[in-house]
Amino acid sequence: GEMMVLPDIQPNLLQISKNTKPSPPPPSKSLVFGHTFTDHMLTVPWSAISGWSMPQIEPYGPLRLEPSSTVLHYAQTIFEGMKAYRDDTGKVTLFRPDMNMKRMNSSATRVALPNFNGDALLELIKELIRIDKHWIPKEPGHSLYVRPTLIGTQKAVGIGPPNEALLFVICSPVGPYYPNGFKPIALYGTTEYVRAAPGGTGAYKLGANYAPGVLPQKFAAQKGYQQNLWLHGPEHYLTEVGTMNMFVVFRKGDGSLELVTPPLDGMILPGITRDSVLVLAQEHVSGKKKLAHLTDKLIISERPVTMNEVKSASLSGSLVELFGSGTAAVISPVDRIGYLGEDILIPTEEDGMGPISRPIWKELVGRQMGTIESDWSVPV
Ligand code: PMP
Repeated sequence: GEMMVLPDIQPNLLQISKNTKPSPPPPSKSLVFGHTFTDHMLTVPWSAISGWSMPQIEPYGPLRLEPSSTVLHYAQTIFEGMKAYRDDTGKVTLFRPDMNMKRMNSSATRVALPNFNGDALLELIKELIRIDKHWIPKEPGHSLYVRPTLIGTQKAVGIGPPNEALLFVICSPVGPYYPNGFKPIALYGTTEYVRAAPGGTGAYKLGANYAPGVLPQKFAAQKGYQQNLWLHGPEHYLTEVGTMNMFVVFRKGDGSLELVTPPLDGMILPGITRDSVLVLAQEHVSGKKKLAHLTDKLIISERPVTMNEVKSASLSGSLVELFGSGTAAVISPVDRIGYLGEDILIPTEEDGMGPISRPIWKELVGRQMGTIESDWSVPV
C-alpha cells in the first residue's frame, strides 16, 4: 500500500477557549514549588489513525481518562521541565527550550509514544505562556515552571505502543529554590538502591524513573540527608544527585582545577543545566567568553568518578567542591556525603558556593534572566 503521512502538530489549528473564572495569582511569597497552576492548559490529542489533531488552550482542569488508559497501568508517561522568565520591562523568555523539545522526543521514542515537531509544540507553548504571562512573578529569581507531558491513553490493558496519546502542558509560578542564599545540602551515597542501570532508561525523562526514587529519598531524609547520591556498580561510580546532574572539582598537582561530570553513558539524564555549565566552562577555557573570577587553569572532563576518588580527595585536601545542576535549583552546592557509615566532607565557601560554581552560576542565571545577552534566551 501507499505510505500515509499523518499530520504533525499544527499550531494554525489552535482553538482557544478562555477561562471565564480566572483566578488572581497568589502572592509570590506563598508559592510552594509546583503547587499552584495558571488559568489555562494546552492539550494536543494524537491517534495512530489520524496523527496529531486540534491543539486546544482551555481552562486548567481535570482530564477525562478511561480507567483502562495505558498510562494508568504501565506508566506510559514522559515529561519535561522548563522555565519562563519575565524581566522588569515585561519581556518574557524561555531558556534553551529547543533542548527540552529534543529531549521530550527522545523520551517519547524510548517508551513508544509518538514523536512530534518540537518547533510546532514550542509555538503553542509560547501562546499558552503569553495568555497566562501575568502569572509569572516579577520578583528576582522567580519564574514560570512549564511542564509538558505526554501520556498513552489507549483504552486497553495490553502492553504495546499505544494507539492513542495525549500531550498536555501546564504552568506553575515558582519562587527561587534558595530564597535566602545558597544552603549546601548533605547527600546520602546510597548503596541499597539504584536509579538507573546500563541499558535502562536513566537517560530519558520517563515518569517511571521517578516513583522508585521516592522511598530511597524518604530513607535518606530519615538519616538526616536531603538527597540521594545515586551510585553505580561495585566501584560506586557517582551518577546523579536526587533529580539533578552532578559536578565535582579536583585540585591537581600543578594547581589547575579539574571540573568533572559523569559522561552521558545511558544512565545519566542529559540535563540542559549540565550542558550549559559545560559550555560556559568550555567558552571560558577557549577564550570565547571569559568569566570573571574563574581560573584559567581549568580542565573540563566528562569521565567516570568513583566514591574512592572523592573520598581520598576529601582526605588529602584536593577536593574543591561538589554540586548538583538542574532547572529547579540551577546549582545546588553539597557539603557532606554519607557513605558506608561515615561522612565525607566537602569544602564550601562563606556564601555556600565554590570557586568554579560561583562564576558559572552568575553567568548562567544572567543568561536565564536575560540580564546577560545570549541566544539561549528565547523570546516568548
Ligand atoms: N537528572 C534528573 C534525573 C532530572 O530529573 C533532572 C531534571 N530535569 C536533571 C538531571 C537536570 O536536568 P535539567 O538541567 O534539564 O533540568
